Amino acid sequence: MAAKILVVEDEPAIQELVAFTCSSNGYAVQRADSVRAAQEAIRNELPDLVILDWMLPDRAGIELLRELRATERTRQLPVILLTAKGAEGDRVAGLDAGADDYVVKPFSPRELVARVRAVFRRRAPEHSGETIRYGPLVIDPARHEVRVADRPIKMGMAEFKLLKFLAGHAERVFSRSQLLDNVWGDHVFIEERTVDVHVLRLRKALATAGAQHLIQTVRGLGYRLAATPAE
Ligand code: CA
Repeated sequence: MAAKILVVEDEPAIQELVAFTCSSNGYAVQRADSVRAAQEAIRNELPDLVILDWMLPDRAGIELLRELRATERTRQLPVILLTAKGAEGDRVAGLDAGADDYVVKPFSPRELVARVRAVFRRRAPEHSGETIRYGPLVIDPARHEVRVADRPIKMGMAEFKLLKFLAGHAERVFSRSQLLDNVWGDHVFIEERTVDVHVLRLRKALATAGAQHLIQTVRGLGYRLAATPAE
């Protein structure tokens, strides 16, 4: 499943360039031309990353950024600020407001994509498209392959996505509802115990290589992927 990028930019030519650059690199793109349109798009479906212009017709992009950071649902949403403002003071303000990165216009499409990849690698490795490694575990997202100590492991798509997410954030604990939001998608109404079913299947799949211990239950909190047991 392609990572979703919301492009918030009011200048049609730049919006087109950014959207084209992202979609030709395999990302699913949604567009908004104002803060209000962006808020609506985010309300409808949480994207995986936002490319946010600073100067928008209704409000400043940085105000939307501050709102996103102040809201539980969007606090972790990766945001790249896009702007003509190159002054150091503005860069600092953008990063202080919680931007993950800052791209100054005019920019090259290759630079933008490199920055998108870098932000995904840092914030959401499961969307970077790159191989994820943790201990004996190797996940190749492009080929939908999982190996443990070089041994291929078969699993269903839901288990694959769950493993990819947990491995991308190894050693962090996620609640069932956080896993539902991140793996099955925001606004998808699935019962939380569905997560338990898929965790069970994932452990079974990993057990074929003796690696079921990688998926750990943290009592009262949720699940995590780790090589050493939770204390
Ligand atoms: Ca603008």
